[in-house]
Amino acid sequence: MVMCCLASMAEAEYFKYKDSKQPIGMRIKDLMKRMTLEEKIGQMTQIDKKVASNEVINKYLIGSVLSGGGSVPGKHASAKTWVDMVNDYQKGALSTRLGIPLIYGIDAVHGHNNVYKATIFPHNVGLGVTRDPALVKKIGAATALEVRATGIQYAFAPCIAVCRDPRWGRCFESYSEDPKIVKLMTEIIPGLQGDIPAGSRKGVPFVGGQDKIAACAKHYLGDGGTHLGTNEGNTIIDAKGFFSIHMPAYYDAVIKGVATIMTSYSSWNGVKMHANRYLVTDFLKNRLKFKGFVISDWQGIDRITTPEHANYTYSIVAGMNTGIDMFMVPYNYTEFIDGLTDLVKNKFISMSRVDDAVKRILRVKFTMGLFEHPLADYSMTKYLGSQEHRNLAREAVRKTLVLLKNGKSAKKPLLPLPKKASKILVAGSHADNLGYQCGGWTIEWQGLSGDITDGTTILSAVKKAVDPKTQVVYNENPSGDFVKSSKFDYAIVVVGEHPYAETFGDSMNLTIPEPGPSTIKNVCGSVKCVVVLISGRPVVVQPYVATIDALVAAWLPGTEGQGVTDALFGDYGFTGKLARTWFKSVDQLPMNVGDAHYDPLYPFGFGLTTKPTKSL
Ligand code: BGC
Repeated sequence: MVMCCLASMAEAEYFKYKDSKQPIGMRIKDLMKRMTLEEKIGQMTQIDKKVASNEVINKYLIGSVLSGGGSVPGKHASAKTWVDMVNDYQKGALSTRLGIPLIYGIDAVHGHNNVYKATIFPHNVGLGVTRDPALVKKIGAATALEVRATGIQYAFAPCIAVCRDPRWGRCFESYSEDPKIVKLMTEIIPGLQGDIPAGSRKGVPFVGGQDKIAACAKHYLGDGGTHLGTNEGNTIIDAKGFFSIHMPAYYDAVIKGVATIMTSYSSWNGVKMHANRYLVTDFLKNRLKFKGFVISDWQGIDRITTPEHANYTYSIVAGMNTGIDMFMVPYNYTEFIDGLTDLVKNKFISMSRVDDAVKRILRVKFTMGLFEHPLADYSMTKYLGSQEHRNLAREAVRKTLVLLKNGKSAKKPLLPLPKKASKILVAGSHADNLGYQCGGWTIEWQGLSGDITDGTTILSAVKKAVDPKTQVVYNENPSGDFVKSSKFDYAIVVVGEHPYAETFGDSMNLTIPEPGPSTIKNVCGSVKCVVVLISGRPVVVQPYVATIDALVAAWLPGTEGQGVTDALFGDYGFTGKLARTWFKSVDQLPMNVGDAHYDPLYPFGFGLTTKPTKSL
């Protein structure tokens, strides 16, 4: 009697889903059987850190939390503070009835960019120049380590947009205008997540261990093709063009086991991607056999309707029927939870659709080992901003540089610059500004100006690079008279765009803001000069090119300014080739390689080279 009851009690307490020896499919099945509607909908809900707490997560059975741009536990929060916070939230999830762990997501789009002291890698616009999948894979692996160092397991990266018009404010998040280059760069996914095991099934998400994170290919689909480059705009193109330009990178992302895919705010021929069932369910899930989860963008379903016609119930129905699995409903999560619950109870949304979403989310969580290792320990904090990662970022920077002009004639190149000189000038608004060097999505959503985190500005890098006897004079915006009277051997002028993100970066004129143009004029009119351009895209330079002796596109290099000086002073050669077309004037836009009206200032693939002055 006693034996029988003890045995059955032990049986009753056996939770198959908690048993890591069971196949994932069985664990999902077992857990699904136990879940209430409330618990399922909770899994589908992602809220922002600003409204999250251990209690909220526990009460609403929340499945995921995110740090939206700059939503951090304190501006200078240490890795330990992050781990404390994520673990506290995780404990809220673990203390629910079924103890399903939380997944925490963040925009780690060029390194772990929201976090103070993290290594900031060049933005994608620069990485595309390298055409080097092995390099971006290493950057992915380093980013994964830094993200895990803060207890986080999920990044909303990579952006695999194919930016067809630099007027788009997110062009810097795109590797190239060329689908082939973007496709090549999906190699960052196995860097972030780990290599999929040989023989694994197609489309199945894979995240290979405690030093890896779930990736998110975004924004599906056609975000980089909108009319006039308008952010969240409309991509007007026939199916052939749409699929051949914007889809190839997604094929590869799915094959490489990407865990999640984010839908785009933009529309295709007037249909919002958050409401495009054909592309999300029929194509991505059924045809490409993507088995990870589809996540909405931030309040993405709210934008299915126009603000004047806002109808949240309709938004939920449309989002669900499209095939979105996890909903980024950062603040209005109770409205979402209540709305979806009512819709399912009243049979406007089928239970099988809810189950599809939840199974996909659970599959990612099981695959990642979250049930076995829900809490982060502190042993990984050492990876944040490590010297090894900074060295990798420095290497990446020098490979992203494109030398557009070198000397007034080919016979008299200015670069590489001599390290030994009596006096040199460093000028320009971007020469000693780490925030500008990093661009948007750094520390804050829109980026910042100045000394925002650990790193090396180009000015400090110049000082480190030159001979100790060379006098380096820094003047942000010198007058022509000052330059003329000072007898410099040469000048390095660093100017460019100010940081921006998303719609704030949309620009119809693409000019370099003042005082950049006056600095170029004042300096380059009087002394031999190299202009280093810091920008998230090609900008208008044609009016200045004749006065400039050498011109370098450095994109948004990030924290390691020494990558720029490595090439300027010839320790390494310039190797980069444009992965974007450099236009003469904005009225040519959009203009991509292969267009009938192709008449660029610098064509796609252009880039001068130099040889290293000494072998290292
Ligand atoms: C952006 C996404 C980002 C999300 C979360 C949105 O505004 O479009 O790229 O992942 O915010 O921060």
